[in-house]
Amino acid sequence: MEDCIFCKIINKEINSKILYEDEEIIAFNDINPIAPIHILVLPKKHISKLTDLKKEDEAVIGKIMSVINKLAKENNIAETGFRVVANCGVDGGQAVGHIHFHLLGGRKLENKM
Ligand code: AMP
Ligand code: ZN
Repeated sequence: MEDCIFCKIINKEINSKILYEDEEIIAFNDINPIAPIHILVLPKKHISKLTDLKKEDEAVIGKIMSVINKLAKENNIAETGFRVVANCGVDGGQAVGHIHFHLLGGRKLENKM
């Protein structure tokens, strides 16, 4: 997808600190972290937002949860706890129009993001 910053990261047109990658999924450090661990996990397929998910996307979303679990363990926040956030649309505060899940941890998180 042209002009999608996350597609550009997937295509290696923009640099990022990639922590996990397979055929369907990529995970990289958020450029503007709000917690000691702040990783974005997303499908490589360009899906704009949560409400655009189709039946055929269910499997990759499930796999993303497994990748999040693996990354939480690798980053030593599985025991201390963490938060997974998916912002959707304007009121949800979604800034980048390529579905993604924030993995946040490494400090006590407040009730609000
Ligand atoms: P959201 O508000 O849920 O759409 O979150 C978008 C996130 O993408 C923000 O936390 C940004 O800091 C992050 N972000 C934007 N551009 C980049 C980039 N080039 N590399 C890594 N993270 C980015
Ligand atoms: Zn995209």
